[in-house]
Parts: sequence; structure tokens; C-alpha cells
Amino acid sequence: MNVLIIENSRFHQRMISQIFNNEDLTVHIANDGDAALEILENKIVDYICTAYHLPDGFDGIKLAQLIRTNPKTKDIPIVLLTSNDIDHSFDYAYHSGVTEIYNRSDIDLLSKNLKRSILAKQNVINALVLYIEDCKTDAAIIKRKLEAMKMSVEHYVNAAEALKAFQESTTNYDIIITDLLVEGSISGMGLIREVRKMIPDRSKMPILVTSGFNDSSRRIELLHMGANEFIVKPIIAEELAAQITNLVSTKQLFDQVKIQQEQLFQLAMTDQLTGLYNRHSLAKLLPKYFSHSVRHSSPLSLLVLDIDHFKRINDTYGHSKGDDVLRKFAQLITVNFRAEDLIARYGGEEFVVLMDNSSKEDAIEKANALRTYIENTPIEDIKITISIGVASTTNNSNFEILFNQADTALYHAKENGRNQTITYPLKMNIA
Ligand code: GH3
Ligand code: MG
Ligand code: MG
Repeated sequence: MNVLIIENSRFHQRMISQIFNNEDLTVHIANDGDAALEILENKIVDYICTAYHLPDGFDGIKLAQLIRTNPKTKDIPIVLLTSNDIDHSFDYAYHSGVTEIYNRSDIDLLSKNLKRSILAKQNVINALVLYIEDCKTDAAIIKRKLEAMKMSVEHYVNAAEALKAFQESTTNYDIIITDLLVEGSISGMGLIREVRKMIPDRSKMPILVTSGFNDSSRRIELLHMGANEFIVKPIIAEELAAQITNLVSTKQLFDQVKIQQEQLFQLAMTDQLTGLYNRHSLAKLLPKYFSHSVRHSSPLSLLVLDIDHFKRINDTYGHSKGDDVLRKFAQLITVNFRAEDLIARYGGEEFVVLMDNSSKEDAIEKANALRTYIENTPIEDIKITISIGVASTTNNSNFEILFNQADTALYHAKENGRNQTITYPLKMNIA
């Protein structure tokens, strides 16, 4: 199989190539988009891994669009690697033909999932197996079989030791295969009981039991206790392989669904244009801020910011330029506030910043600093100004009260000529 890595940095080239080491793959590396297209023209490529940032005016998303329009390359999976700084939304990337998106800092997850996708294509199952068997000959045969299927096997003869390894390990085992009668203070049954205390869900952690006993009552008891499958010895290696393949693929599918659910959740929580929290997620996050504020008697301040005459920007430069301005503006707000402040896009060109543990004075100072900075820093070569309304918590404040106060102040800032900060109760604050 051929893997194409498109990446300009030598460091990342090496790091990504390492993921594919030890696999039966040929790795091609392109430094930029043109080199990538040339390789795609001349070679049959099965998998593409591209950085978002590429030299020569290309980026991973543009490249994906081109790859999708060529009949020869349109079906190749494309993994996009980002560093949190892509100028487009994930939605846009997926619509452009990107199959999966990973953050470069998540190299472990990336490595695991990439290997899995590629190996699935090769009909082998990449899994980490915790295997407990005290019969040396059985263990040797099974281990060889599993390793031939590209599984990594951690073998123990003692169930108590295996359990300890399981409890202390940070790695995610894909399956436990245990003999029923094994050395040590606990049996295979004891092991199942303990594992199920930690992970009750069978799809999350499949357990396959092997045993010389073949009575149905014991089998039923084991299944009730949390085993997924039961295989009678002497083990037929092919049967074991088929059982494992089923259990592990279900488990890995389950993992995948969970990751996708988390991604969807993130997608639902963030504003697609700016990457900031959206109004919906704000409602979810606010209670924590307010209860923390009450508990520690620390003030909260809210800024409601609105870009002045934004409609004119759209009218003059076009909607797409307007989008660029909103995106850059969101980045500017983000760098001007602390990580613990909650920043959200509330509506079109209206943003809110909830400042944790900040008095009204702190908030006014921050608001005016931002307002002056924006006034003096053209975005996309366009001069913009903003108006800000500020309110701070008093006894029994909640978000609705605070928002209405800040919004009233903002309204007055607009009425009063824009490009200014007004606090509630109404007072103009000169920078
Ligand atoms: P004011 O100073 O009173 O706030 O004037 P304004 O023009 O900024 O305010 P108004 O509320 O009249 O218009 C807001 C404009 O923002 C109109 C709308 O088309 C534009 N807008 C809202 N969301 C987006 C967006 O996602 N992208 C772009 N490009 N424009 C947007
Ligand atoms: Mg406006
Ligand atoms: Mg508005």
C-alpha cells in the first residue's frame, strides 16, 4: 500500500512517517501541493495525510478539493492535520472532501486511528490484547496466531497480575482473553468480576473466556457475569480469530462512534465561522461561572460588544470579506482576554465576554483597551470600531439581568455616537 504524506516541515514529516513504520507500507513524501499532485498523477496512492498549511498558496483543504475532482484520485481517504489555526470551519473542510481531521498534538490518537484505518484495508485487525493463560503450550500457539494477525499481545500466566496491569495501565486494551482456571489468587472469573466493576459495558471492553470445561451452566454463569464469548478447548485457532475479529471490530466501532459523538458535540457547541462558543453553549457554561462567583464572593463582569456599522462593511466589500473580518475579530478578542474568561459569538456581529473574578473597574479597563486597540488596528485593511456595554454582578444577579444591563448600556453607546464603552448604570467611560 502507498501512503502519501504532504507536509513541508521536516520535523513533522519524520514524526508522521514514524507512524507508518513497521507496517507493510510505502511512504511517499511531498513538500508542497504541486509535488503531491505529481505523485498522485504517477503513482497509485491508497491513503493521503496532509498538513493544513502548505507553501505556494496551497492548503490542505484546497488540495482536497482538487483531489476530489480528479476521477483517478477522488476516492482516496484524506486525513487533514491541523494545529488549531485553520482559517476555515471543520464543516467546510469535510465538505471539501477531507475524510478526517486531527490535531497534530494528538499524535497518539492519530497514530492509532491511522493504523487502524489502513490495517482494516489490509484485512488485519490492529488490537492490543490482554491475554491470560497459564498453559505454556496453549499460550505459545495462540500468541503466534494473534501476532500473525498483527495484534499486540500482553501475556500473563497469573490473573491477579493481569488485573493489576489492567487497572494501572493507561493504554486502552481492545480485548481481554482469559482462561478460566489460571495461576494465582484469583481465577478468570474473579478477573471478569473486577473488570466489569470498572467497565460494565461489554461493548467497551470485550472479554473472551477459554476453558476446558464445557458444561452449559458454567457457560451461562460466565455470560451473566459479563463475559462476551466462551470458547471450549482445544481451541481452534481460526474460530478464536473470528471471534476476536467480531468482538474487537464492534468495540472499535463503538470507540469510533464515541469519538464522532464528541466531535459532533464540539461542533454543536462552537460557532462555525469563528470557532468561538455559540449562544447555545453559553447557556450550558454559564451556571458554573455564576455558582463559582457566589461561592467565592467574586464579581463577574459582562461585556457585550457590537461592531459599528458592520452592514456597511458587507455592503462595501462583500459578505465574504465581512466573514473574514468577523473571523479575525474573534481571534483578536480571544488574545486580549484571559483563558478563564468566557467568550462567545452571541449573534451576527455581536459578541459577549464574561470576565471571571473581575470588578467593574477591571472590566472597563479591559473593554476600553480592546476598543482602542480595534480602533487603531485595521482588520483585513478595513478600519472598524466597536461599541461596548459593560455590567457587573451585584447581589442576586443572574445572566439574564446582567445581559439586559450590558445590552442597555450598549444601546446607549450606539445612540451616543458609537466607538465607546458605556457601563450600567449608564455612564460613559473615556479611555
Ligand atoms: P450598528 O453600528 O448599529 O451595530 O450597525 P450594524 O450595521 O453593525 O448593525 P445591524 O444590526 O444593522 O447589521 C448587522 C449586519 O451584520 C447585518 C448582517 O447582514 C451582518 N451579519 C450578521 N451575521 C453575519 C455573518 O455571519 N457574516 C457577515 N458577513 N455578515 C453578517
Ligand atoms: Mg453592529
Ligand atoms: Mg448588531
